[in-house]
Amino acid sequence: MRCLISLIIISAIFIAALLNIVKVGASSPVFNIVIILAAVSAVFFSLYEAILVVVVCMLMVVSFLFLGSGIGNVAQTIIFLMAVTCAGVALKRITAKLVNVKIKVLNVIKEEYRSFYHLDKRSENEKLHLQKAVHDISSLYEAPKKMISSITLEELMGCMKKSIVGYFAFSKCKLIIFSFKEKEPRIDKVYNISEGKDNHDSLSGYEEALCSLMKDKKDPLIVDKASNMPAPNELKLPDSVEAFTAIPLIAGNRFNGVFAIEGVQLDDMVRFLILGHQFAIVLERIRLYTLVQELAITDGLTNVFVRGYFLKRLNEEIERASHFATNLSFLMLDIDHFKECNDKFGHLVGDVALKRIADILKSNLRDIDIMGRYGGEEFAIMLPETTKEDAFVAGERLREAVKGADINAYDENIKLTISMGIATFPDDTNELSQLIDRADQMLYKAKEAGRNRVEVYGNKK
Ligand code: GH3
Ligand code: MG
Ligand code: MG
Repeated sequence: MRCLISLIIISAIFIAALLNIVKVGASSPVFNIVIILAAVSAVFFSLYEAILVVVVCMLMVVSFLFLGSGIGNVAQTIIFLMAVTCAGVALKRITAKLVNVKIKVLNVIKEEYRSFYHLDKRSENEKLHLQKAVHDISSLYEAPKKMISSITLEELMGCMKKSIVGYFAFSKCKLIIFSFKEKEPRIDKVYNISEGKDNHDSLSGYEEALCSLMKDKKDPLIVDKASNMPAPNELKLPDSVEAFTAIPLIAGNRFNGVFAIEGVQLDDMVRFLILGHQFAIVLERIRLYTLVQELAITDGLTNVFVRGYFLKRLNEEIERASHFATNLSFLMLDIDHFKECNDKFGHLVGDVALKRIADILKSNLRDIDIMGRYGGEEFAIMLPETTKEDAFVAGERLREAVKGADINAYDENIKLTISMGIATFPDDTNELSQLIDRADQMLYKAKEAGRNRVEVYGNKK
């Protein structure tokens, strides 16, 4: 604005100078106006411009005086030119100021644009942030839907891995599962579900301490050193672990494990808590399902497979042995004079003795061997990939183990023996029913021969 006024003043000076040339008298109102404008300009201009304007005015006054004295047109023209030069200088300075103003305005516009751009960028970031939040929430919603169809732990871990990797930022994620059966919590399996990791894993020292802490407190634990949320001293957290969260997997009153995540951001911890809670519910469902399954296929007293399930497995194993052209030996065994045991000590004592013998047999078998309760006090055992000779050795070991055991039941100390018959696939037969029959025949033979014996099909003796 000041520049604009200055411009008007300079223009007025020019007009006054022109009027001077056409010989307007010194008392002219135009001359007075010029003087007033010079004074006004002193107020608006900076000192330098004001001086210039005053000089211009004085030169014009002198020009008028010369005009009156008649010195002539040369002097008048020189003074006029000087006036015009001064005015030109003032004009140049004003123009420079105008340019400055323009630059300032442009800068203001640039700033405005920049802040608008940043605003736009920010809203773009916010949009992305919101999109991520929606995506995260929908993944939290989708995760249990996928998990719910799992019926085994392995399947559940696969779902959990898919639900976490790529959606959450973390460095290590472990699911520590406690034993399904025991009342007293005991670590059973450890799964590492971090990307690129093989599922099964072990625990580090602090993770073991973490499990016992979780087992007792049953509350989620959040540690973030940067946010002044330290770990409890008893954990002995390594320096390398800056932040982690641990969520107890509890459904109802049942504690089934711990969900431990390292290197997790505070923002993600709430989402992990939600996911952990959902996981705990599905985990409990799988635990119950597993127990029901086992109840249906295992015998309540002896904890070995029931006859129906055992025969199903025997069928599968024979097919497998046939496919891979390997042996499978089948053992049929029966407790000797067990009726007498019942008669002497009663059925309750008999039950304990039966269970004890089943335990002795199981503890003398390999992991791949399968045992079932075939009848009252008769057991059947299949030994995959085992020849007739090896089966005899195994049978003798079982017989010796039972014979040597002191069976304690309700303050009674009982000694029992078993008899056993063995038949082998495919040496003795290719058929399942014949395999059972032949082992049964051998058992009968063992009983006939005096009990506490192992008889093998095909042996001449
Ligand atoms: P053997 O040497 O000839 O086999 O004589 P044994 O007395 O064992 O005769 P057998 O095998 O025919 O008798 C089976 C007995 O086992 C009869 C039954 O009272 C007993 N028994 C079967 N199942 C159970 C059970 O679940 N609990 C108890 N306590 N006894 C059982
Ligand atoms: Mg018997
Ligand atoms: Mg019997």
